[in-house]
Amino acid sequence: MTADAGTRPVVARTRAELRDALVGTPGPRGFVPTMGALHDGHVSLLRRARDENATVVMSIFVNPTQFEDATDLAAYPRDLAADLDRARDAGVDVAFVPDVEAVYPHGSSTTIDPGAIARVLEGASRPGHFSGVATVVAILLGLVAPHRAYFGEKDAQQLVIVRRIVRDLALPGEIVGCPTVREPDGLAMSSRNARLAPADRAAATVLHRALLAARDLHGSGTTEADALRAAMRAVVAAEARARLDYASVADPEILEEAQGPQVGPLLLSLAADVGGVRLIDAETIGRP
Ligand code: AMP
Repeated sequence: MTADAGTRPVVARTRAELRDALVGTPGPRGFVPTMGALHDGHVSLLRRARDENATVVMSIFVNPTQFEDATDLAAYPRDLAADLDRARDAGVDVAFVPDVEAVYPHGSSTTIDPGAIARVLEGASRPGHFSGVATVVAILLGLVAPHRAYFGEKDAQQLVIVRRIVRDLALPGEIVGCPTVREPDGLAMSSRNARLAPADRAAATVLHRALLAARDLHGSGTTEADALRAAMRAVVAAEARARLDYASVADPEILEEAQGPQVGPLLLSLAADVGGVRLIDAETIGRP
């Protein structure tokens, strides 16, 4: 049975409950994995899944293995009642809300190493993060067996890695990348934005401003990767409340830093600390 707006999704908390909830649901099945604390960025993925599939499944699971920092994990916002309201409004049929034991049953020990693409950019600053992401995504895809799974382009490296593991390991589902949803001033929506102090909230637009500066430079004919990186760095350097981690201009599939003049598509991405909150943003430019 398909839930319409007004019907709460069926909540499955164990692998067995999920299996039961999925029996007899019509295909195709769309899947949106999340860590909860849903905002309009998540909702855009849920709505896209609703538009393109007969059954929509989401997961809400704060995956401990992708946090390197126990304080960060403990501080992660959780509000299941509000999330289920949003899921209902977006027309989700089944919400998988497992505890840690349901995802990693006693004795589970397998992890996935996505290779070199997991060790650059975010992976360089967050060792083990993408192994945690890859492993939980593989488990969830195995349990949900979707026809399509939806991921945000804001987390650009995550999207590249998920595409890669699905291809390499022949996991089920076509991976669909979805555009970044932004606040009116350009800040990419993120569950972490709520942790920004008011003065830092204004400064946080610096990531988007840096992307725009590089995109505009590229649009006006500058194709040198170094010049594009320098443009992003200069914007962040001018914002006293922000501390840059990296500004990258890379090949969108292998994530290797681009050198020299560029003709094909480029992934611009950056990470910065703004008032103690680590923020990321990304944009692909030069797509044909
Ligand atoms: P998270 O709950 O942070 O793990 O995010 C769940 C999914 O939502 C991931 O695929 C994210 O890339 C995606 N997402 C998060 N923020 C946004 C946003 N502002 N716009 C589009 N998708 C997003």
